Parts: sequence; structure tokens; C-alpha cells
Amino acid sequence: MIVMKFGGTSVGTAEAMKQVAAIIQNDTRKKKVVVLSACSGITNKLLYLAKKSAYIDEQERISLIEEIILFHSDIIISLGIESPNLDAQFTLITKEIYEFCEGISLLGECTPRSLDRLSSFGELLSTLIFSEYIKGIGLHAELVNALSFMKTDSTYTSAHIQYDSMVPQVQKIIIPKCEHNDIIITQGFIGSDEHDIVTTLGRGGSDFSAALIGMAIEAQEIIIWTDVSGIASADPKLISHAHTIEKMSFQEARLLSFFGAKVLHPETILPAIKHNIPVIVKNTFSPHDKGTTIVSDSSYSASKIISVTSKNAVGLVEFTHQTFSITQKMSIIGEFLDTLQCDLYAFGCLENTMYAVISLDRINFLSKAESLKDWDISYKDQSFIAAIGPNKVSDKYPDILSTFNQIICQHNSMPILLSGISEYALCAVIDQKSLHQTLISLHSELIEQ
Ligand code: ASP
Ligand code: MG
Repeated sequence: MIVMKFGGTSVGTAEAMKQVAAIIQNDTRKKKVVVLSACSGITNKLLYLAKKSAYIDEQERISLIEEIILFHSDIIISLGIESPNLDAQFTLITKEIYEFCEGISLLGECTPRSLDRLSSFGELLSTLIFSEYIKGIGLHAELVNALSFMKTDSTYTSAHIQYDSMVPQVQKIIIPKCEHNDIIITQGFIGSDEHDIVTTLGRGGSDFSAALIGMAIEAQEIIIWTDVSGIASADPKLISHAHTIEKMSFQEARLLSFFGAKVLHPETILPAIKHNIPVIVKNTFSPHDKGTTIVSDSSYSASKIISVTSKNAVGLVEFTHQTFSITQKMSIIGEFLDTLQCDLYAFGCLENTMYAVISLDRINFLSKAESLKDWDISYKDQSFIAAIGPNKVSDKYPDILSTFNQIICQHNSMPILLSGISEYALCAVIDQKSLHQTLISLHSELIEQ
């Protein structure tokens, strides 16, 4: 069994849905669980509708609902689906949306529970339409409602999975159905609590749903179909000849995402990785591209640098305080940065001064912070650069380390080399103006060679 998850853009138009059907058909493996997101833009529209319904008038509410319904009925028409079941279910969902929004309006309040209920209609609609479409073209498929197995607690809008009930429920419901059908279609993102009230797993939660289902049915692999061909060796906007990384470990993916690669949130695929199920990121609109396979750290480690990445605007902040000891300073700043809630790229101390590398857009908060008012704080606009690759890269690969250091020093007059901060990365803080050139040289010397 395999799991195929298709994101919002992959089911965002009738054309895209046809493409998805072709991808499913072309995969010769027999049993597939297909997890779908809502059509792109629809979750946002539903959330907007839910919040607005508390105070807009009936006319405005109806026109927002109509927009959503029309969007889906256009897809149904373009796909040419003729199915009494689709008509009946579609009417039912439509009615529920109207009634539910009227309820919010009467209450004059939209609770997190209502947000979940209303946003769940996005996935319910996309899966209903798609399942009817592929049945119509002759595939053996069955739609299974994720509310019946994706068991969560009642933390509406970001519910936590109740593994003890979710795993057996998935096994009980999905596995027998796979015996009678080639394709099971279900919703990502949505679940239900112990009272069967609708919950959601948080925005972008469909990847997580796919990983959870994959884990529970012990899938052979999970393919995340999206609108880019996997994870690239550098930002293609900065290095036009960057290529897709074919294989990487989970830690490498996690670091890449921390440093800005937006393709997927590695944490969301952790349930699969922990169970040694490979996760492949592929492009719905260019399905023959190989994509990127992410595997567990124990089964793979790169033997060279696979990607260079950067944060254009970081602040190298210098903190000093005349009276505190170094330990006191470290703990105060540590605590402060924690409450600041921003990515901390590096932190260290040298003699009497503490340094932190943080996102530039948070710098203002430092100067305004009451708890730091007796401190001397200064900062420099810098860029942060990282080369990601083999585990223990700075210990085990002295050649890579020295090439990295050389390139950094060649393009920058006062770089800060941070080779020890991650086992999988070589990092440096450099001048903003030389960032692009440094990236190009690193890519060419460490990846293209
Ligand atoms: N439809 C949901 C969202 O837009 C979940 C997902 O797409 O993964 O957040
Ligand atoms: Mg999405």
C-alpha cells in the first residue's frame, strides 16, 4: 500500500484534478490511499466566511457562501461529472454550510469549534468531487470520511492526535476497504474528537494526515504531490541552475526548512520517518521529475554538501552589561530571546560580550525591551549562510570544511565562521552585499563539483 497526498493546487482546478487522476492511474502499484487538501484558496475563504458570519448581514453572508459553492460547481461542470450521489451529497453539504453560517450569525460569535467545522467543508468538497470523478472514469475507488478515523483531542484549530485510538481506527476502517478497492480517497487536515465533533490539525495539516495514515497502515511509501519538483540544492531565484536533491535524510530536510526552504514542514512527516517509511516530494504538474526522497537519519547520510541556503537579513547583536557575571548575562539573554519568539541562528559569548544572530525584523523589540534597558546593545545587518550535508560534517570532512571556510573568507572581510553549531551544516555570518556571490561560489565548489 502507498499513500499519495495531493495539496491544494493539485486539486485547485478541473484540469489539475484530471492530472491527479492520470498520476494515480499511471502508478501501477495496486493499493493506494489518496489524501486530498481542500482546493487551493478554499480553506482561507471558509475561515473568512466563518469569522465574518458573526457580524455581516445576511446578503453579504450569502454572497460569500455562493462564491465558494460556485467555485466547486464550476469544477464539477468542467469535469463533466454526472452522478446522482454527487448531486445529493453536494446539496447536503451546501445546506449545512448555509445553516451553519446562519447559526454563527445568530450567536454573533464564531468559536474555534465553529472554525473547524466550517473549514472542514473544504476537504469534504474536494474529496467528494474527486472521488465521483475518478469513479466516473472507471477506477475502483471509495471515499472514506477522515472524521471516522482521525481521532484527536478537542484542541480546536490545532488538535493533537490521540494515537491510541487513531491507529487502530485507521487499521480497522482503511485496511479492509483496501481489500475491496484499488483506491481509497480521504481528507487531509480534518479529524474528530471523542464526542465526534469536527477538529482540524492546524493549517497545512494534510501532509501530517498523510504521514499518520502511512504510519498506521505501514505504507511502503508516502508521496507528497505538490507544485514544485522537490527540494532544491539552492533557492532557484538566487541560483538559476540549482537542481533537485534526489535523496536526503530527515535531519537535512529539517535544517533546510529551518533556513527557509518552504516546500514542506519536515515535522509533519515525522510519524512516517520514525517508522522508516520514505516520503517523496513530487510535482503534480511535472510528474516525471524524480522529486526528492526523504528517509530516516539512520538509513542515509549524504557524503557531500547537498544544499546551500541563506537568510538575507539577520542581525548580529552584541549585548554587554557592566555588572553581571557572564553566567547571569547568558541566562538573562537566553530567557529574553526565548520570549522574543524568533529564530535564533547562533548564540555565543566572547570574554565579556554576548552575541546572538536573530532575524532582523525582531531587532526593534530588543531596544524597546524593558528587561534589557540597562544593557548596551548594538547590532550589524548581516546575512546568514549555511551549507547542509553529511552528518558530523565539520569533524569528518576536513576538505569540505576548508573549502567552505576559504570561500567565505575570500568573499567577506570579517565573516564569523560557525562550523560547530550543527552536526549537519557549516554556517557563517557574512556581509549582506557579498551574499549572492558567496552562495554562487559555495554551490559551484561544494555541490556542482
Ligand atoms: N486545507 C488546509 C489548509 O489550507 C490543509 C492543507 O492544505 O494541508 O491549511
Ligand atoms: Mg496546503
